[in-house]
Amino acid sequence: MRLEQIGEFGLIARLKEKIGRKGHGVVTAIGDDAAAVRISPDFLVLLTADVLVERVHFDRRIHSMWQIGWRTAVANVSDIAAMGGLPRYALVSICLPEVISVEQVEELYGGMKAVGDEHHFEIVGGDTVSSPHDLVISFSLFGEVEEDCLVSRGGARVGDLICVTGELGGSQAGLALLQQALSSKRGTRKRLLENRWPLVCDRHLRPQPRLAEGRLLAQERVVHAMIDISDGLAADVGHIARESGVGAEIIEDRIPIGSQTRLAARHLGVSSRDLALHGGEDFELAFTISSEDAPGVVESVRQRTGIAVSIIGKVITAPQGLVLISASGKRHPLLAEGYRHF
Ligand code: ADP
Ligand code: MG
Repeated sequence: MRLEQIGEFGLIARLKEKIGRKGHGVVTAIGDDAAAVRISPDFLVLLTADVLVERVHFDRRIHSMWQIGWRTAVANVSDIAAMGGLPRYALVSICLPEVISVEQVEELYGGMKAVGDEHHFEIVGGDTVSSPHDLVISFSLFGEVEEDCLVSRGGARVGDLICVTGELGGSQAGLALLQQALSSKRGTRKRLLENRWPLVCDRHLRPQPRLAEGRLLAQERVVHAMIDISDGLAADVGHIARESGVGAEIIEDRIPIGSQTRLAARHLGVSSRDLALHGGEDFELAFTISSEDAPGVVESVRQRTGIAVSIIGKVITAPQGLVLISASGKRHPLLAEGYRHF
């Protein structure tokens, strides 16, 4: 069978079947932002990994080595944040083509270490091998969380409100501008572009994981389900719905989109709503919470982290499906159209 017949998520579902049931001590396994396993009575270890391949996940004409390192580490910290935990130790394996210099590898590690310094994890090992063509980076992060703070994708309840931190769509707007500049005849300089569109370029080149926010939400112990937005709001809300056995309704006008993202979208001739729904890599957190608890949590996150939380929709029953309500009140299917690996 060809991979494209079942796609990335179809493949992962088959692997999950093949691996079989969760063993003793495995609290969450395949199908969440990170696995959670029990190795001591009170604490769970969180495990997450990402592989990044040149020309699939990054472009060395757009991303500096430091930025590649930063983005790789942030993507993993974001998965730990989405479980309510804290990152601790990382293993980094690299497959290096001949064209990469020692200085470039050091710069890559500089980016990863900067995330480690900011979010308190340490790189404790890995592996180094040669690669025939492209640079490949495998990053595995180990974190920890108290068992009663763990937040999975699977706990959403019908009637919950769906919330999201920060703003969406900026990362994809930044990437599209950077890609457009590459292919333009005038060859707009990257530096000029970053001066003109600083916020969206930064959202793409140097994203921030919502670790403090995830931790705060987990410690309040009122969040029912949580995920980080890596694939786009539509796909990631879909993951919560599937794992929780519910449906979801998102109100288009409530999706938080920054003004520079809106301007950039207009400049690019695309819809800012689509950037937010399908763009991905914003690394914001989406979570569900009861309507009684929502106002207090929205306020405490804003007060303690400075990050706004928007209420963008609600959890409905599974047969009602995944729905996007437009400004005119019309109901549309909320379709996931993120990046397809196969
Ligand atoms: P995220 O976007 O949060 O990083 P992914 O979509 O990469 O999550 O992965 C979804 C789930 O599938 C995770 O629990 C992950 O650990 C698991 N997974 C992905 N690829 C594999 C694989 N090759 N083998 C086993 N589990 C996998
Ligand atoms: Mg994730």
